Amino acid sequence: MSIEKIAAKVEKRYGVRVGVCQDDRSIILSGECNDWNTIVAIGKMFADAGTGKHVVNKITLAGYVEKAERLPAIRDGALDNTDWDVVVIGGGISGCAVARELSRYNLRILLCEKHSDVARGASGANDGMVHAGIDLKHRCNKLRYGVAGNAMYGDICRELGVEFNRCGQYVIFTSKLIKFLAKSTVKRARKHGIPGVTIIGKKQICEIEPRVKDFAVGALYVPSTGVVSPYKLTIAYAENAVQNGVKVSLDTAVLGMKKDGDKVSEVITNRGTVTAKCVVNCAGVFADEIAQMADDEYFTIHPRKGTDLLMDTNASGLPTHCISMGPTLKSATHSSSTKGGGIIITVDDNVLIGPDAIEVPDREDTSTVQSSIDSVFQRQSACCPSLRKNEIIAYFAGVRAPTYEEDFIIERSAKVPNLVHVAGIQSPGITAAPAFAKDVAQITAEYLASCGADVQLKPDFDPVRKAPVCAKKLSDADRDKLIRSDPDFGKIICRCEQVSLGEIKQAINNPLGVHTVDGVKRRVRAGMGRCQGGFCMPLVTQTIANQTGVEVSDVTKDDIGSNIAVGKIKECNR
Ligand SMILES: Cc1cc2nc3c(=O)[nH]c(=O)nc-3n(C[C@H](O)[C@H](O)[C@H](O)COP(=O)(O)OP(=O)(O)OC[C@H]3O[C@@H](n4cnc5c(N)ncnc54)[C@H](O)[C@@H]3O)c2cc1C
Repeated sequence: MSIEKIAAKVEKRYGVRVGVCQDDRSIILSGECNDWNTIVAIGKMFADAGTGKHVVNKITLAGYVEKAERLPAIRDGALDNTDWDVVVIGGGISGCAVARELSRYNLRILLCEKHSDVARGASGANDGMVHAGIDLKHRCNKLRYGVAGNAMYGDICRELGVEFNRCGQYVIFTSKLIKFLAKSTVKRARKHGIPGVTIIGKKQICEIEPRVKDFAVGALYVPSTGVVSPYKLTIAYAENAVQNGVKVSLDTAVLGMKKDGDKVSEVITNRGTVTAKCVVNCAGVFADEIAQMADDEYFTIHPRKGTDLLMDTNASGLPTHCISMGPTLKSATHSSSTKGGGIIITVDDNVLIGPDAIEVPDREDTSTVQSSIDSVFQRQSACCPSLRKNEIIAYFAGVRAPTYEEDFIIERSAKVPNLVHVAGIQSPGITAAPAFAKDVAQITAEYLASCGADVQLKPDFDPVRKAPVCAKKLSDADRDKLIRSDPDFGKIICRCEQVSLGEIKQAINNPLGVHTVDGVKRRVRAGMGRCQGGFCMPLVTQTIANQTGVEVSDVTKDDIGSNIAVGKIKECNR
């Protein structure tokens, strides 16, 4: 359908007059509308028109004042006048995995992350499911990299010292017709190279997961699905990159770029201006803004929020396997922008429920709202009715970064030759990262070599990152040995998660130099249990102060400015 016809259809359906123009890569939309979901729906109508072009959606929301981007409250010249072969923008799973894969080469690599730690965007607030890819369309990057990435998980997690559980997933059927129709899913999975997908009967699924016995007529078993801690994997990728010579600069936001001809020549940050031979854009929900900085805007990210709920580990009625509800007859005939979520048993044995998918105008809207909490619980508890809402101990929201074409963009720009985009990395981005990071590193290395650089694989690249000690997972004998060697491993600081002082010290002395309370939490789980840090936070804060030689009032929860203590209220003489 021509874009003029779509514009007419939009006007008829929504009463919105859209300005439309196009170039060789994109359809560019303009205008104003008073409903955000309509703006997104219009963008999708143009993306689905089969033109093969991207959509740049500049339709504005009437009366909406865009929130200022959260930027680091620091200005210094720490990076000024430094010169790099590659600047990677963004410290999520994409940026950290790309930096680690690039560190195989003899290149000078800088990774800029605007927050005080890596994994602070979507990579730190997601389900951590290593998807098999059964729901993905043929011929898309999500399928290609998702299936390849899933297959790499065992090896990559072993190398990086990160726990991974290939636990499989059961998609529960409540209708015999849907169970019958699932045969086409099995066939498609086979065609896409997804191993072992089968349909199992009522008896079998009820033996595996008795909590579904009242309504299940069978299930789709997907053995290649797994679970990982997404932030621990991101941290591990970053640490291994540092180990292999990458400079990770935290609290460092890319604010602009200077060009020399068609190429980016300088990258402007709040910590100085650096020169770069090549730039890799892994900026998540801001990837289109980074493209714009290089005068290379050809896609738009529309932020899509997802909320997850975390159940108390001691709650009764928890399932023991990763399960999700299969489609109903109605939902099976509608295309959806989410996998529908499910119930996940995390690598730390927590039960995680969610997520939902809500289009939001604010790219950093990680607020949790009651309506999402209620709808996620209602929807997902359908496949485990014994779950109790009052046993939720925490909830969080993350923001996905889809393009209107709903696929990953992983390519060197056609307009700016030294800019590589890793954009539109929505779900299954965690799953796919190990695979696309390898391709991105190769694209970058080949580009630099084509410009005359002597790019070689480093003989001393070390792929192994040693796993940090987790005392509670050791046998009694090994823990005893550990405590004898260092008594701090016997002093419990976080009672809920049984985290010792030794582990907290180890987390504080991490290779990225992250000295925040949340940084410790993400590394060793201190504060992630039932009391959510109520007991251990002051002790962790004090330990950070002791270890780094700063005042307690200088310790932050997370980004600069999030100080926990403001000063002393009483003092006593000892
Ligand atoms: C609720 C939810 C559930 C999900 N569940 C799954 C799942 O189960 N399995 C799965 O495979 N995927 C899942 N995903 C998708 C997955 O989380 C993402 O695809 C992945 O984390 C994207 O990683 P990223 O590195 O591209 O982006 P991000 O993790 O968002 O990282 C981008 C980084 O760039 C930084 N940045 C941005 N602008 C700048 C700048 N100007 N200067 C410096 N730094 C900048 C940001 O601070 C951020 O740290 C889920 C996502 C959500 C939201």
